[in-house]
Amino acid sequence: MSHSLFELFSRPEAKGNQGKDMKLIVKKANCPQNHPCPSIRVCPVDALSQRNFEAPVVDQEKCIQCGKCVRYCPMKALVLQ
Ligand code: SF4
Repeated sequence: MSHSLFELFSRPEAKGNQGKDMKLIVKKANCPQNHPCPSIRVCPVDALSQRNFEAPVVDQEKCIQCGKCVRYCPMKALVLQ
């Protein structure tokens, strides 16, 4: 039995919210935009990027809605909904 991390995280049961598709939203107003985003380092699929110290941008094609960045951001600027 060998599943890639991607397969494990992509399973519908990993999505929560009664199986509805969720999407990672960046709440710019919550981000001070004055530092390197720490959540970028925890994303397992490299879906977050940042230009200068602006709020991070999510690549929805790459994001697997794992929620790691959501839990890591102390400003609650990243939300799965
Ligand atoms: S929810 Fe997971 S996959 Fe999506 S951007 Fe955040 S850490 Fe990366």
